[in-house]
Amino acid sequence: MMAAQPKGQELFGEGVKRTSGGEARRYNMLAARLISEMVKGLLGPRGMDKVFVDIMGEVTLTKDGATLLRKIDVEHPAAKVLIEASTAVDNAVGDGTTSVVVLAGALVARAEELLELGVLPATISDGYRRALATAMDALLSHAIKHANNSDRKTMERLATTCLESKAISSCMEKERIARLVVDAVMAVVSDPASGRLEIDDVKMEQKPGSVQDTQLVAGIVIDKTVDSSSMPKSIDNAKILLIDYDLDSKKNTRADAEIGITLPAQIRAYLDEQAFELRRKVQTIIDSGANVVISRGGINTLAQTMLAHAGIMSVRRVKENDLWWLEKATGAKITRDLDSISQSDLGYAGRVCERFVGDDRMVFVEECRNPRSVTILLRAGSAKVLDEFHRSILDALNVLRDFVASPSVVAGGGAAEALAARAVRESALTVEGREQLAILKFADALEEIPLTIAANAGMDVIDVQAQLRAAGTKEKGKGGGWCGINALERRVQDMLALGVIEPLAVKEQVMTAAAEVADLLLRVDDVVMAKPAYY
Ligand code: ADP
Repeated sequence: MMAAQPKGQELFGEGVKRTSGGEARRYNMLAARLISEMVKGLLGPRGMDKVFVDIMGEVTLTKDGATLLRKIDVEHPAAKVLIEASTAVDNAVGDGTTSVVVLAGALVARAEELLELGVLPATISDGYRRALATAMDALLSHAIKHANNSDRKTMERLATTCLESKAISSCMEKERIARLVVDAVMAVVSDPASGRLEIDDVKMEQKPGSVQDTQLVAGIVIDKTVDSSSMPKSIDNAKILLIDYDLDSKKNTRADAEIGITLPAQIRAYLDEQAFELRRKVQTIIDSGANVVISRGGINTLAQTMLAHAGIMSVRRVKENDLWWLEKATGAKITRDLDSISQSDLGYAGRVCERFVGDDRMVFVEECRNPRSVTILLRAGSAKVLDEFHRSILDALNVLRDFVASPSVVAGGGAAEALAARAVRESALTVEGREQLAILKFADALEEIPLTIAANAGMDVIDVQAQLRAAGTKEKGKGGGWCGINALERRVQDMLALGVIEPLAVKEQVMTAAAEVADLLLRVDDVVMAKPAYY
């Protein structure tokens, strides 16, 4: 049926480019490899940061594979597949975003070698699938399974390993920050037995300053100040009213209306009417018994004066997200209709106060009704660094979430991949025919992770490969041990003994997603592009 189809370009209109068969596959694989080459330099503790400048001149400084790939605007469908795989791993487990791209690139490169030798794509796919299953089995059977999914020591090690390979590792405070992330998680995990950790329960705020001042606040921090100097700066036993309403006479005309005014006196009357209405609204707030008002809208001077007179603290123009946080933490209900405030709309916090953070002031809502809401107040020298720290901490939180959900860990530093590679290589001996070649290539591709970590640390890749394999053979009885790359001391070492560990879930996700990409690219043999061709 395929043979009857017209081949080549004549089927399509002008500007449409079609590549098929081996050529399509080659281009796809090349594109995937190029993307992989681009992020290789990021992998591991000694990987380098990258700076990306977009067409608007916006600068992003990052060491995170997914962040970098999301920024670049690629057109090639195969490159997009790889980028999507990285994003998917990010969404599923929150870490391993560079590893998946490096591994997929290695699998694709090895597949290309086999295609050159005349091995069929389907044979390679079958071999890769079988090898993936072996690799997963090996990891599952050697993983360290913890009975306690909130074991603090393991969590600290997981957070440290995660942060070690992120930009934050260059700061002296990384171990304290790893502990702080674990503290945050411990504070918000309501029921470890449920295996659920809501990352959203940990709020992150950032302010320029010194990393040493990064702190965990038991409550919600809002990057705003108290509206008026005549208001109290600290309120104990706060009854909090959250409003999504503009307390400003000019801004609450929700409908389009035309007001016909012909005489100056009418203007006066109109303004008086508006001020009267505003006073009435503010009075309902005062009458509600609230002593702290936090609003998404504005609060004009007249309203501020009335609130200050009544001893009420107000904070205006907070972000929508902040209201959501406060609602969760204090038990308040966001009010949009000031005429129907009830007692049940008010939330509670032991203290709401304004404090200096560096040169700026921020509002702290502490001792909340739901103590399972905390804020990590991040401090670093510049906004770009703060953004990258934010991403690193989010990764660490995700890694801890993975552990809480499934408390099995494997060793990092490429040890898990080296262990899986040994198992895959051994299993190849039991398979006959060309599929065996594909299985062996899968093992080689897995080794690319420790070798890339080593190369980025400036180690000799050939020596490292020999040492890794020798160490694996020596400890055969123990599944080859967890030998990997100690990138900080540039040595091949037992990474488990060193305490460099990662959740099993991350490794499983990385390997599965990378194998899926390779399989997909092997199966595609036709690319039809309606956009102008660029290759
Ligand atoms: P990813 O985005 O894939 O997580 P990273 O650049 O963050 O990529 O690097 C993660 C890799 O770095 C993992 O394989 C992890 O085990 C490894 N790693 C973390 N700490 C160390 C260490 N001290 N020595 C060697 N490798 C490490």
